Amino acid sequence: MDNKILELIKYGDAALKEAGIEKGKLEAEMLLCHVVNKTRIQLYIDLSGFIAQEKIDQYKSLIKERMRRKPMQYILGTAAFYGLEFMVNESVLIPRPETETLVELALEHINNRFERMLSVLDIGTGSGNIAVAIAKNSNIVEVFAMDNNEKSLEVAKRNAEENGVKGKIQFMNRSIYDDYEELKTTIDGYIDVIVSNPPYIADDQVEKLMPEISQYEPHYALAAGADGLEFIKKIILVSNGLLKYNGVLIVEIGDDQKRDVEAFASRYFSIEFANDLNGVPRFLIAEKRG
Ligand code: GLN
Repeated sequence: MDNKILELIKYGDAALKEAGIEKGKLEAEMLLCHVVNKTRIQLYIDLSGFIAQEKIDQYKSLIKERMRRKPMQYILGTAAFYGLEFMVNESVLIPRPETETLVELALEHINNRFERMLSVLDIGTGSGNIAVAIAKNSNIVEVFAMDNNEKSLEVAKRNAEENGVKGKIQFMNRSIYDDYEELKTTIDGYIDVIVSNPPYIADDQVEKLMPEISQYEPHYALAAGADGLEFIKKIILVSNGLLKYNGVLIVEIGDDQKRDVEAFASRYFSIEFANDLNGVPRFLIAEKRG
């Protein structure tokens, strides 16, 4: 084949397929686009365009990284979530499509409350995806986003800035194990809505996940003790202390955790569950009753 661009894509496709990556062609195209800073359409319109050797070398090294199963989002440095773009690196979890439903549920709840201003707390904000998506899509929220990892907070702050909601979110370096009376002072009282996509995988299951996850995503964003319920339970307890009456906690849970979460959360809250797009119970919606 004499055309350079098609040849490079074909090379990348074959290499990625050999590494067990299904969408080899698409990903090869995306990596080439990234290196030459063009969209896929621009790439295909000018198939005979010149590509410097330096760019070709760069492309080949990205293909190698992907062959080692580094997630595309970490290679490209961005991930899409709720129609927005988020910067990501290996200190934060890559935002997942199912978590978009959590944002949807939170916004529904916020918009049904008819209140002037609502306070929203995102526990374990990571890349800031949930906090930013909520801030971006509601005019009546004041958002607090906490994480106990300074590197994640740096990413989250940048994402708030890039998405134009920096002024609507207050970031805090806090752990759910900190004294929450002190947290209450910082957030100036009680909270209307708490959201969280906490780690919820049992410790010994993390290494069994696909290599993109087990080898590259931060284990502190995934692993949650022997049964995977450590943080969910702690968040339920903390939320019970932080929420206003009629306030609501919406938290993402793992496959098969509904029964245990139901038993635990119903001691404190009036609860229901919502499914993800695959029909799996994925979100606990817990309301604090007076
Ligand atoms: N809130 C972030 C997300 O939903 C991070 C979650 C986490 O690190 N467990 O992607």
